[in-house]
Amino acid sequence: MENCLFCKIIAGEIPSEKVYEDDEVLAFKDINPMAPIHILIIPKKHIDGADKLDESNTAVVAKIFAVASRLAKELKLDNGFRIVTNVGSDGGQTVRHLHFHLLGGAKLKTELC
Ligand code: AMP
Ligand code: ZN
Repeated sequence: MENCLFCKIIAGEIPSEKVYEDDEVLAFKDINPMAPIHILIIPKKHIDGADKLDESNTAVVAKIFAVASRLAKELKLDNGFRIVTNVGSDGGQTVRHLHFHLLGGAKLKTELC
C-alpha cells in the first residue's frame, strides 16, 4: 500500500534490521526499543490493524504467533515475553499496518494502560 511505512520496509525501500522473513511474514527490530528485545512481526500483505481482521485474513496471525514463538526460542527468552498489538488512535497505533510487538529480555512492567 502506498505511503505505508511498513509496506516500504517490506519492499526494501526503507532499511530494517530483519530477524526473520518468509513469503508471508517479516520480523525486524523496532527502531525505538522499549525492552532489551523488541521485534516487530508483520504480515507482508497489508492489513490496517487488528480491527480489520476477519475470517478471510486471520490465517497469517497464527503464522505470526508461530514466528514469535520460534524467535523467542532463538533469542533465549526462556523466562517469558510479551506480544502486543496496538489498534487505532486510542490503542496507540502509530503505524497503520498490522504489527505485533515481541518484547522481552527483562522483567516487563505489568501496567497495560
Ligand atoms: P505502534 O505504536 O504500535 O503503531 O508501533 C509502531 C512501532 O514502529 C513503534 O514501536 C516504532 O518505534 C516502530 N518504528 C517506526 N518506524 C520504524 C522503522 N523505520 N523501523 C523499525 N521500527 C520502526
Ligand atoms: Zn502496509
